[in-house]
Amino acid sequence: MYKLFINGELVEGAKMSPVLNPATEEPLADCPRASKEQLDDAVAAAKAAFPAWAGLTLAERQDYLSKLADVIDAHTDELARLMTQEQGKVLAETTGEVMYSAMLLRYNADRDIPVQVIEDSDTRKVELYRKPLGVVATITPWNFPLVTPIIKAAPALLAGNTVVSKPAPTTPLTLLRFIELAKDVLPAGVFNVIVDENDLGAALVAHPDVAKISFTGSTETGKKVMASAAETVKRVTLELGGNDAAIVLDDSDPKVVAPGLFAKAFVNTGQVCVAIKRIYAPETIYDELCDELATLAKDAIVDDGLSQGTTMGPVQNKMQYEKLKGFLEDAHANGTIIAGGAVMDRPGYFIEPTVVRDISEGSRLVDEEQFGPIVPVIKYESLDDAVERANATSYGLGASVWTSNRARGVEVANKLVAGSVWVNKHDDAFTHIPFGGAKQSGVGVDGIEEYTQLTVINS
Ligand code: NAD
Repeated sequence: MYKLFINGELVEGAKMSPVLNPATEEPLADCPRASKEQLDDAVAAAKAAFPAWAGLTLAERQDYLSKLADVIDAHTDELARLMTQEQGKVLAETTGEVMYSAMLLRYNADRDIPVQVIEDSDTRKVELYRKPLGVVATITPWNFPLVTPIIKAAPALLAGNTVVSKPAPTTPLTLLRFIELAKDVLPAGVFNVIVDENDLGAALVAHPDVAKISFTGSTETGKKVMASAAETVKRVTLELGGNDAAIVLDDSDPKVVAPGLFAKAFVNTGQVCVAIKRIYAPETIYDELCDELATLAKDAIVDDGLSQGTTMGPVQNKMQYEKLKGFLEDAHANGTIIAGGAVMDRPGYFIEPTVVRDISEGSRLVDEEQFGPIVPVIKYESLDDAVERANATSYGLGASVWTSNRARGVEVANKLVAGSVWVNKHDDAFTHIPFGGAKQSGVGVDGIEEYTQLTVINS
């Protein structure tokens, strides 16, 4: 039976409600849900644990992170299977996510937090220290149930903070199972996990004993988090939504670029903040590229992520599935569907991988973040026009340029306003590569700097 993790103890929730398997819509497990009092208990435990944890040597905390990584490595298969059952994506993707979670812990376990001397002269010695903040609350969505909490917790813990982690209500089980397996690794109160019914996020953000919020989720909720954090001038890191454009240049071979574009538009059933959400292609290769993408979509094997051979699983939850039906209607009304275009007639939140051509700005599918397996292919006339249209959004998470000429690609990439711009790839994230959003896609970049207070000692 799944339990919350508060002050080093596995505890029952104030109430229980099921987590559904999105491939069947059947209950997967009964899940504990915390009360406001349990949230307060978790923050109090983290606050009490903070002085001793911050007082350890860096080497001691590094050792703890390595031990957490060992726990994940020893249970990769179990955690990956559970994640596919609660989240929906295929087993190869969940296995990758679980392995990457352990890698992130190890990457942070190898990091130093040096004191930087910026002046040592006859006049003064100026040293920059990075001190932990206190209790860090992490709030995360349902598309990457394990790695997103760990991206935040690993640098936070290394720097000497304690953590209260709140996963998404529809995908809490992988994190709960991980912490159950790791329950004896950390001192009590250093890492706490509470699960809600989408009703405790605001209270966690407003809590006076939380020093910092690290939030990943929609821009809409991110704005509420930022507004609420203002009350106590809490530190915030916000990783929010995106509407990433991929611009294909006229020197590209559609056969060469289509598989990469397709993979990064439909990975995790399109439910990735930095998935490709708009493809801009020039008139000269437009028809051929559309045909290539449509063929790839028709060849995709959409099924339960645990079934052998599946290349795309269901959408994670009913709310997102219903939202995507609206995007399908919009695609039918404003474009030409050349692959997919419908929900699948079977239990589970399955949507056919959908490619839409002859569509442009002014439609929901182009202007808004779809967050699902439906991609618009938009024709452009001049490259300047494509760049302008790619940038004409309040989002700025990622973007990419696809070309046979890398130097030309980098030149175009420099004109795109986004936190990450790739050439001939998209969403190439890795442990040491900073990741954050421009404009309304976010504030800050997860990393040690975000989880520490810069203290200047000037003597
Ligand atoms: P969401 O904003 O609805 O929920 C995210 C989390 O916030 C959940 O844990 C939820 O319970 C919690 N929450 C809800 N109301 C809250 C409140 N008032 N205060 C504090 N927390 C609250 O997002 P979602 O629908 O679960 O996730 C999809 C969105 O997340 C997409 O827009 C996607 O682009 C974005 N996302 C961004 C990144 C990134 O790194 N930039 C990564 C993944 C997902």
